[in-house]
Amino acid sequence: DVLVNQIAAGEVVERPASVVKELVENALDAGATRLDIDLEEGGIRLIRIRDDGGGIASGELPLAVSRHATSKIATLDDLEQVATLGFRGEALPSIASVSRFALISRTADAAHGARLEVDGGRVGEVVPHPHPAGTTVEVRDLFYNVPARRRFLRAERTELGHIEEWLRSLALARPSVELRLNHNGRLLRHYRPLREGADPLARVAEALGEDFTRQCLRVDHAAAGLRLHGWVGLPTASRSSADQQYFYVNGRAVRDRVVAHAVKQAYADVLFHGRHPAFVLFLELDPRRVDVNVHPAKHEVRFRDGRLVHDFVFRTLHEALADTRA
Ligand code: ADP
Ligand code: MG
Repeated sequence: DVLVNQIAAGEVVERPASVVKELVENALDAGATRLDIDLEEGGIRLIRIRDDGGGIASGELPLAVSRHATSKIATLDDLEQVATLGFRGEALPSIASVSRFALISRTADAAHGARLEVDGGRVGEVVPHPHPAGTTVEVRDLFYNVPARRRFLRAERTELGHIEEWLRSLALARPSVELRLNHNGRLLRHYRPLREGADPLARVAEALGEDFTRQCLRVDHAAAGLRLHGWVGLPTASRSSADQQYFYVNGRAVRDRVVAHAVKQAYADVLFHGRHPAFVLFLELDPRRVDVNVHPAKHEVRFRDGRLVHDFVFRTLHEALADTRA
């Protein structure tokens, strides 16, 4: 069983950034509004994430680290319209099979918290442990027991860079969640929570810098059950924005060729050729019209009607951009 989990880890856990992604998504699924992320050595030595979400009852801790135990999907109908970020029940057992792992948690109504350690897949005993309401997950020495995987890890700076980039993409999608990132004891990033009614551009400025927000265009258009909203960057002389492309489908960061093509076409048509547009765009549609169950890491989707999505994105951006020239 440890072996099965290690094999699954091959798909889910590529590097420290993939661990951070799975743990942060779990915290968000648990309703967390504040996350503290502590890293050592680019996450290779330590990843510790504390959240203020609903917590896990002490009796359920062993379930949380066992394979295909998810509290999120009960029926096939749920699978058709996944509302949570996680749903496979694979992440924790996979991560715990390739690290020194600890899960510490307390639900709001429990008298005290509890802790469960898993060492390279060997599950320990649940013991009482003080903890505020919410959950902390600790992942130490990633791949310590899988040398072949460990050799593929890059320098501390590179691994940290992947984590920061993923967190940036998340911060854009979840402006009301407070996020702190500490590395080797130093506060690296602090995304402050965006309060109700505040300017949503504030979080974008925190994530992408004012170079982007000074020169961007607000987009918000709905038709045929599709809605596209967010910001597109206008070309500036200085900015190289190849890496500032953020696209979300129902709140999930997604890389999709259909959409990438539509965006590129719209820009090329109206404004300029051969340059990378910068954008933060959110597409919302009925979850039944998109399949998120394509890949374990989940950054790919399949639209039931790719053509319609393509044309909608293209037309919306084309019109918005054309307006700026008129
Ligand atoms: P999935 O997210 O696909 O359900 P995971 O392996 O990531 O599977 O997590 C297993 C289960 O552990 C979740 O379904 C959830 O019930 C519980 N869990 C994990 N992390 C947290 C957390 N931070 N807060 C509350 N519950 C959690
Ligand atoms: Mg999960």
